[in-house]
Order: sequence, then C-alpha cells, then structure tokens
Amino acid sequence: MSERKQAVIALGANLDKPAAQIRTALEALAVHPQIRILKTSSLYRTAPVGYDDQPDFVNAVCLAETGLDGVSLLSVLNRIEADFGRERSFRNAPRTLDLDIVDFNGETSADPHLTLPHPRAHERGFVMVPLAEILPDFVLGKHGKAADLAAALGDEGIVLLDGGGDGKQAV
Ligand code: ADP
Ligand code: MG
Repeated sequence: MSERKQAVIALGANLDKPAAQIRTALEALAVHPQIRILKTSSLYRTAPVGYDDQPDFVNAVCLAETGLDGVSLLSVLNRIEADFGRERSFRNAPRTLDLDIVDFNGETSADPHLTLPHPRAHERGFVMVPLAEILPDFVLGKHGKAADLAAALGDEGIVLLDGGGDGKQAV
C-alpha cells in the first residue's frame, strides 16, 4: 500500500445468520489487497432502530488501514454488500449486510454519496459502543470522543455476544 489511511468501518446484519455474515464480511475486507484490518470489536446483538418489526441486528466496528481513497473504499464495501445478496427495499429495512464508513482518516465531506464522518454514526449506540471498545479515545469529527458518545447514548438493547471479535487484534 502506498499512501496509508485509516478508516473506521461499521458492520451490521440482521438476516440469514447475522453473526456469520459479520465474520465473513470481516474476512472479505481482510483479504482485500489494499485493506489491512488493525482492530476488530466484539460482536454485539442490538435491537432494531427506526423500524421495530424486524429481527435483532448483529453489529461490529473495525479499524482498517488502506491505500484506497474514501470513495474507492465505499465501492469495495458496496461490492461486498452486493456479494452478500443485499436488497435495498426501504430505509432501516432488514438487510443481509450493511457496511458504512464511520470515519475516513479524519476527512470531512458533505457529498451525499460519501458523507464524512458518517452523518448518523455518532447518534447510534450500536456503532459507538463497539467503537468505544476498540478506540475509546477516537475523536469523531466535531462530536467528540467515542467513549463519551457511547456513555451518553447508553448501552440499552446492546448485548455483547460471546465468541465475537477478539477485542484488539486483527482477524
Ligand atoms: P444506511 O447505511 O444509512 O442505513 P444505506 O446503506 O442504504 O443506508 O446507504 C445509503 C447511501 O448512503 C448510500 O448510497 C451511500 O452512498 C451513502 N453514504 C453516504 N455517506 C456514507 C458513509 N459514510 N458510509 C456509507 N454510505 C454512505
Ligand atoms: Mg449503509
């Protein structure tokens, strides 16, 4: 990788063995020649937000190093989502796999195709709790530290799954 940048990626799934989907997605990221996973959170089971009549989600967050730019990384994420057969029906709908860029090297962008940092990540406990696990001091744009955001949001409906990530090491 020539120019290395760091990205925080959020993973979520709530259909078809969601924990397995998350683990397989992490493997798909890890084998990409331009992506190296530096840290992976545990897996968390979380209650759906926005549209209640659907199964619980499994969520995780990872820190990756990449030679890609943000838009290219998003394309890779979208391709992995598509490989998992995701169907986009309506917002907050059940999905096989959702991969979001929470932060890309501290960059800011108002582009709707890639908004940075992710415009809703800071208000999502299912992103902030796993992020605080691996990077408590991570500063998310103007919103502040992950640990403070996670503490303010609380962990209601967010349950640590056994045998999830390893908390620290790359998968
Ligand atoms: P959500 O992740 O909010 O549930 P989607 O996954 O369906 O919704 O994404 C909707 C759009 O969000 C995509 O077309 C994508 O281009 C755009 N988008 C904007 N910023 C980001 C980001 N930081 N990470 C991922 N997708 C983003
Ligand atoms: Mg998304």
